[in-house]
Amino acid sequence: MTLVERATTTYERRRERARELGARYDFAQEPLRLYLALLDAQERAFERAQSDRPSAAEVTEYVVRVALPGIMEAAVAAGTETLREAALLRFHDGDLEGIVEAWLGGEEQHGTDAFLARASASPVLEALPEVARTLLRGNGDDHHCPTCGGLPQVAIFPDTGEALLTARRTLVCSRCAGEWSLGRVTCAACGENAGAKLPILADEARFPHMRIDACEICRRYLITIDERKDPHAVPIVDELAAVPLDLVAAERGYTKIVRNLMGF
Ligand SMILES: [Zn+2]
Ligand SMILES: [Zn+2]
Repeated sequence: MTLVERATTTYERRRERARELGARYDFAQEPLRLYLALLDAQERAFERAQSDRPSAAEVTEYVVRVALPGIMEAAVAAGTETLREAALLRFHDGDLEGIVEAWLGGEEQHGTDAFLARASASPVLEALPEVARTLLRGNGDDHHCPTCGGLPQVAIFPDTGEALLTARRTLVCSRCAGEWSLGRVTCAACGENAGAKLPILADEARFPHMRIDACEICRRYLITIDERKDPHAVPIVDELAAVPLDLVAAERGYTKIVRNLMGF
């Protein structure tokens, strides 16, 4: 028997999991290869932001100057032809601060803009919760991140050993990776809580630890990761590999609450 040492930092865990899932799922290889290239750039941005500590007023300029160049390089090195071309076009002609500002403001964006802004802003927001907190508008509710007001990207059934009936779901923010909890039988988009209106779709053979939690009222859905069934899961990484589940949801007419980093 060999003792396998598990990764310890957030970025090491994400990297290790992306490699693991890329080897497990053919269809996820390409997006995860890009994600792995991004992770290196994101980790550098995260570490620099932790030592530079830009203020909320400086954060847009900081993201463009410090984080975006590495993200652009990763996109050009490991992205698809389409992404590569779109990224280069933005780099030469785009209003880069405007693109980042729009993401921080929660505006709807073109795919490439959302990708570039999100990939470069998230490590900075993760490093600086005090800056993420300045994005919060109003008092917030259960359907938005209590730190920054962002939408949930993925839900988790944590491996806490709690009794099933009392266990809650944890939601992970699409903007700052902050976490909060929501009742188990509640739509994360509209708050519907009649179980009969909240269908669960799964492909247990392929994804025993993942499922779709959909809502017939608002037609939105979210992927839920069950950590009790796979304690090595890293929810934001596993969610990127759930492409076939996203296709099932789309066929049934459901839209994800917010697209993930790779645009699914
Ligand atoms: Zn957040
Ligand atoms: Zn709903």
